[in-house]
Amino acid sequence: MGHRWRALIDADRNQPQIDRHLLARVYTYARPHLREVAIVLVTIVIISLLELIPPLLYRELIDEVLPNRDWLRLNLLAGAMLGIPLVTAGIGLVQRHYSARAGEGIIYDLRGAMYHHLQRMSMRFFTHTKAGEIISRFNNDVVGAQNAITGTIPSIVTNVVTIASTLVVMATIEWRLALMAVLVVPVFLLPARYFAGAMRVLRRQSMQQNAEMSTLVNETLTVNGALLVKTFGNQRREAARFDQSNIAVRQLGIRRAELGQLFFLGMRIVGAVGTALIYWLGGYLVLNNAITTGTIVAFAAYLVRLYGPIAALSNVHIEFAQSMVSFERVFEYLDKPVEIEDKPGAVVLQNVKGHIVFDRVWFKYQGALPGTAPQPARNDAPDHDPGAEDTLLDSTVPIPSRQWALEDVSFTIEPGQLVALVGPSGAGKTTITYLLPRLYDPTQGSIRIDGIDLRDATLESLAHEIGIVTQESYLFHDTIRANLRYAKADATDEELETACRAANIHDMILGLPSGYDTVVGERGYRLSGGEKQRLAIARVILKNPRILVLDEATSHLDSQNEALIQAALEPLFHGRTSVVIAHRLSTVLAAHKILVLNQGKVVEQGTHAELLARDGLYAHLYRTQFRHTAPPAAEPAAAPAPLSLAPAD
Ligand code: ADP
Repeated sequence: MGHRWRALIDADRNQPQIDRHLLARVYTYARPHLREVAIVLVTIVIISLLELIPPLLYRELIDEVLPNRDWLRLNLLAGAMLGIPLVTAGIGLVQRHYSARAGEGIIYDLRGAMYHHLQRMSMRFFTHTKAGEIISRFNNDVVGAQNAITGTIPSIVTNVVTIASTLVVMATIEWRLALMAVLVVPVFLLPARYFAGAMRVLRRQSMQQNAEMSTLVNETLTVNGALLVKTFGNQRREAARFDQSNIAVRQLGIRRAELGQLFFLGMRIVGAVGTALIYWLGGYLVLNNAITTGTIVAFAAYLVRLYGPIAALSNVHIEFAQSMVSFERVFEYLDKPVEIEDKPGAVVLQNVKGHIVFDRVWFKYQGALPGTAPQPARNDAPDHDPGAEDTLLDSTVPIPSRQWALEDVSFTIEPGQLVALVGPSGAGKTTITYLLPRLYDPTQGSIRIDGIDLRDATLESLAHEIGIVTQESYLFHDTIRANLRYAKADATDEELETACRAANIHDMILGLPSGYDTVVGERGYRLSGGEKQRLAIARVILKNPRILVLDEATSHLDSQNEALIQAALEPLFHGRTSVVIAHRLSTVLAAHKILVLNQGKVVEQGTHAELLARDGLYAHLYRTQFRHTAPPAAEPAAAPAPLSLAPAD
């Protein structure tokens, strides 16, 4: 068995170190709660001192009261023995109250700081972070930090105070016995350390194994996973994988139990040895009349107060370092720079007309954040070198995926115009709709609304002016009414209804079990794709922005839904500047301008008629895609636009 434990102990060497800067930073969170912390410290000291008294009472009982048959003092002593624990318990309550206040207060600040900070992060952060990761930092790490504050730190202080005060009293009463009690300490300190280290490694291993097991269960016993396993006939393979994991968990559980027993046994033996030595040496001293019988009993009682805390302290620095890792992980998030925020003196967009300019916009998702690092863009996307684009394309270095999501994109949209973005998948259409509401900043170049660079406007006013309908509209798990009011908190029921009528969803809502009070979203009533989009359109109608960004649903809608959405869009486009990722013939026909994108570049611009005449990419897309999206009644090339908006020119 020996080498098994040794391996565990070696594995434990790799412990996190406690870092001064980290401690200083944690302290800044404690500072606002210093009053509570001080009260906790005072109560710890008072309790420790009070707990020193009972052994002295035992001594007095044995040495004085019993031999002298002193009834009065016997009663007094009994009263004190009863009273002291009561008082201690009362002070303990006060301590618990203030330590909870301090601990929860610190964690409250930390959690709040993290939420507020993360909320300001750009979409780049969210697309590059696993959803579970953020939740885990909120749950596990904040709780880990909380353990340090409310558990580890107070326990360190308590133990140190207890040991120090006990040692002082022991040495004062009888230094020879005290010295002996201290000499026993290393005998059990060393094994205690090793055992606890091994225990920690086992705990970590079993946490890891359990996590693996939950991942496995999660992957194979959920709707999508089960479907995959079944359709590939892989039940047996998954069962074998699970058995393996199950065996590992069992094995670790057994070893933890064994080790725990050994540790417990060791502690008991050392305790017994210490006590035996005290009585043995103490007995000699009593027989030599050097000390009293009561002194030995008092010492045996103090011994417990000495060894327990020493055992606890022997490993506490590692527990502490581990909880500090939690702080570190929280701080790591707090330190992430906010990429997109209001710059000082940002202007509030007001009375926006909706004139939009993309001015030589280059954008890439990966790599250096704009404005925070030297811009590699300078090398391959120079402002005024027309040859550079070719250099980039002719590059002999194979680039697995295109480096730039947008390359030198320029266009202008006049107020009130409808612009359709078309192009093959991956062309950069969605990226343009992300840049406009400033979910990302261009890597190079600028985007202006009414002549104001987006980076000079406040984010709030920008969000206010731009309304977005995406393909997969997100609905909260809440009533339809509440979901609609997200766009306008004070909207009246009449306003909601008007918006829903305009979006062609009112009648459908009335047909639902609870009408506007039907709960939708993740676990609620499942709306179809078309219904969801119409609801999203109603939400945007309520918001009533000057600029509209719309990603038309690609999922093939039935002709009824198709017609309903088409009719809902008409009033939506009216009087707004609209940028639409178009999948519908009616939209491209109605557009004042069509921007054809390919590989991140605008390759053609113009109206439907102009672009058809050009016989380029648009004409090709039209023949292969849009033509089929026309309702059977309307023969696209000849028929006028189904929307009332006349194409420009
Ligand atoms: P479209 O909407 O025209 O299909 P997108 O704008 O979504 O095209 O994508 C343009 C390019 O950017 C594609 O090459 C795509 O792979 C890439 N891209 C899109 N989103 C991200 C992202 N979050 N991270 C990295 N690359 C992305």
